[in-house]
Amino acid sequence: MNVLVLNAGSSSLKFQVIDTDLEKIASDADRCIARGVVERIGSQALLRFENEGGKVLHTAQPIRDHHAAIDQVMRWLISAEAGVPTIQSFADIHAAGHRVVHGGEKFARSVLITPEVIADIEECIDLAPLHNPDNLRGIRAMADILGPGIPQAAVFDTAFHHSMPPRSYLYAIPYQFYRRHRVRRYGFHGTSHRYVAYRYRRMLNIPKETVRVITLHLGNGCSAAAIDAGRSLDTSMGMTPLEGLVMGTRAGDIDPAVVEYLMEKEGFSSQQMEALLNKQSGLLGVSGLTNDMRDLLAEAQEHDDRRARLAIDIFVHRARKYIGAYLMELGGADALIFAGGIGENSPEIRERICAGMDWCGLRIDPARNAATVNRKEGEISADGSTLRAYVIPTDEELLIARDTARLVAKAEVPAW
Ligand code: AMP
Repeated sequence: MNVLVLNAGSSSLKFQVIDTDLEKIASDADRCIARGVVERIGSQALLRFENEGGKVLHTAQPIRDHHAAIDQVMRWLISAEAGVPTIQSFADIHAAGHRVVHGGEKFARSVLITPEVIADIEECIDLAPLHNPDNLRGIRAMADILGPGIPQAAVFDTAFHHSMPPRSYLYAIPYQFYRRHRVRRYGFHGTSHRYVAYRYRRMLNIPKETVRVITLHLGNGCSAAAIDAGRSLDTSMGMTPLEGLVMGTRAGDIDPAVVEYLMEKEGFSSQQMEALLNKQSGLLGVSGLTNDMRDLLAEAQEHDDRRARLAIDIFVHRARKYIGAYLMELGGADALIFAGGIGENSPEIRERICAGMDWCGLRIDPARNAATVNRKEGEISADGSTLRAYVIPTDEELLIARDTARLVAKAEVPAW
């Protein structure tokens, strides 16, 4: 079946069409037959569509909202120009799978979308005011365009981390705020951490209950997870995706007293403070140059830019701190796994994060590390390492499509 996977952001819409079903899942034979992105929704939008053969269409046109963006995607998919032979009409899209950022405490796994599920996602808007409304827009637009009969699934960024014990997910603030407002750590990037753990056990051909690893999703957003017996034991993002590692534009961990202090000193409103921590901090904030790790590495190397170096140093240091903490929590791990744009493509950052870890059994093999880029999957540790390191390119869309296909087939949907 053809599953349209949608990831709706505030002004963007990413999509993939994945041909999958239970048989294809079992034999890893499912595949992406079209993909693309619509950016700058709400103004002159940029569209990039690509079919399986690598034929790319770039256009720019005004796109009012998510509804118009999905409409445009559908029109392209059925057009002769797209060159997707198995999609001739809207009826050839058999289901839709949506990335939904926040599932609160409600959703421990993916679900088919019903009016009750929509109401529950709406209830989580308070927890993810920046994300859930866009995800809902995508869901409603899809039902509108393909008709209410189209099966749609919601796959939550938070679901994989449901297995965290209270000692990992509770903040040490008065307990009543957890009871009253559900203030706790939820964790995000769950679909990515779950996918990476899945690929790891397929690569090593080991049962899922034996997976004991630390996964590092290092992209524009960054998070780490400690995975014990296949399940998430702890993760670095919190009630929102702001906590934890240093990210492209997010600060990650910070003393909360800084917030009030800066509001007083600079006269910032709470909105300005939120924007500062989410959009102007991290690699961008420290370097004053860019949120893009590739550019920072180039600046540091070519111009020895002090603040670019500093931003990279803080990024690496924070990641190492979490690895140390998670090694302790897990009582040792079998592997570190790198994913995300930085984790998949930067041997230099991987090497710096893993430096001086001989004491716990990890030595990076420089040749393997250098060769494992551009969505290549493989081991980067040296033979004889007792803590091994791997690069596993993440594929959240594939898991979203698979969960959707399983739900449509009324098969069991794994939570981890
Ligand atoms: P993502 O959000 O997963 O797409 O990751 C985006 C991040 O990956 C950006 O900071 C990019 O600069 C970074 N990235 C992509 N390619 C490279 C590379 N070759 N070296 C370093 N960072 C990279």
